[in-house]
Amino acid sequence: MAKPCAGLEVLIVGAGFAGLTAAIECRRRGARVILLEGSKDRRQLGDIISFGSNSGRIFRRWPGVEDALDPICHHSGGLDFYAYDNEFLCRQTWDAEEVWGKRFNGHRGEIHEIVWNHAISIGVDIRLGMKVSEYFETDTGAGVVVNGEKVSADVILAGDGVRSTARTIVLGFEDKPKSSGYAVYRSWMGTEKLKENPLTAWLADPKIDHHAGWLGPDVHFLVATLQEGTACSWVLTHKDEADVEESWSAPGYVEEAIKAVEGWAPIVHAIIRATPEEKLVDWKLVFRDPLPTWISPKARIALIGDAAHPFLPTSIQGASQSMEDGVTAAVCLELAGKSNVPEAIRAYEKIRYGRVHAVQQTGVTNRDNWHKADFDLVKKNPESVKLPREPWILNFDCQQHAYDVYAETVKSLRAEPGARPSL
Ligand SMILES: Cc1cc2nc3c(=O)[nH]c(=O)nc-3n(C[C@H](O)[C@H](O)[C@H](O)COP(=O)(O)OP(=O)(O)OC[C@H]3O[C@@H](n4cnc5c(N)ncnc54)[C@H](O)[C@@H]3O)c2cc1C
Repeated sequence: MAKPCAGLEVLIVGAGFAGLTAAIECRRRGARVILLEGSKDRRQLGDIISFGSNSGRIFRRWPGVEDALDPICHHSGGLDFYAYDNEFLCRQTWDAEEVWGKRFNGHRGEIHEIVWNHAISIGVDIRLGMKVSEYFETDTGAGVVVNGEKVSADVILAGDGVRSTARTIVLGFEDKPKSSGYAVYRSWMGTEKLKENPLTAWLADPKIDHHAGWLGPDVHFLVATLQEGTACSWVLTHKDEADVEESWSAPGYVEEAIKAVEGWAPIVHAIIRATPEEKLVDWKLVFRDPLPTWISPKARIALIGDAAHPFLPTSIQGASQSMEDGVTAAVCLELAGKSNVPEAIRAYEKIRYGRVHAVQQTGVTNRDNWHKADFDLVKKNPESVKLPREPWILNFDCQQHAYDVYAETVKSLRAEPGARPSL
């Protein structure tokens, strides 16, 4: 029997987690999928990335992917919190949420490679070195200009990340990033140096992955180990009013990172000092106000992932929400069919918009709960530093949700003032 999207041509821009998920989910439904990626090769850039149980369930629907992810991901039962002076605050465990599904945390490049290979294995046509420079749409389709050539399809899902060019087309103006007032030193490194220091040797335990955080006024430091004690990742979020720059590869400097935690526990200094400088990145956290829309005027082009909604890392949901976008867009295209693409694209936006912005806001509230805390009060009520684990975010099946609400969403779109006859 023909698959529901057979005959549908989908063009996807950007092979991040938004683009790859959209590609896999459209392809699973039988669409012909071309994915254009600007980079010339599949890069290993990045370090730790987190997928909550809401996106973990998406990986688990893709044959072979969970088994490939398990050995490279972090598997600790909890996160130990300390105050900046090393006073133990509390341990947050994840047992209660096991029923919601499985989380996957690991190296972005390694997880990306597994998902990329899966996409290729099911017939997604990934083309590298294809940096899209222009977008256009008509009443019957949409296209891009890339390396001077036009490529067209029934619909475009643009997952071209925080510095999206597609966003300018959709909005009609360039949406400049703002400084969030924070930056993150980040590293992914081997544990050789940690093993040499009695203060840090326990982190390189081959039997147990560790996850610990030290919190202080306007700064937090998180460390995680994985892969049988051979790999370590840490992030240090601190105030930074410097220039806005969105790069995953700006060099960081050990002495500068140390300055951000002056007077803190010796173990925090020891972890930072064990970091080879070439493994340290200085990532300025930028912010964007929510966009008024994610879709083009004729509803043939939709933004997905960071292109539509960049996240602060303290939401721990950026990658998960980008995957939810890809699944939802694919379900909407399946239910609308080739002859009704604009309806699918409008429904995609309507289904996703409110949820995404509510989740985005948790990045600010989670960060402020740690950074703006009164540490005398925290020590009296140490449990207050625990991360809120919201069932409405994590115990959520975006695929089922899209199937459940699609019909009523289309009905409400048709009832909106000014709805076009095609809706
Ligand atoms: C190199 C890199 C490293 C990262 N490292 C981390 C990390 O360590 N931890 C973490 O939490 N998050 C990291 N992120 C961000 C994280 O992957 C995203 O926030 C999240 O997964 C949402 O993904 P996305 O697909 O929307 O965007 P992204 O992951 O940013 O993917 C966008 C893709 O679009 C491509 N692209 C951009 N412009 C064009 C164009 N004009 N034409 C064609 N292709 C284009 C980019 O090359 C990129 O592959 C990283 C992103 C990148 C690109």
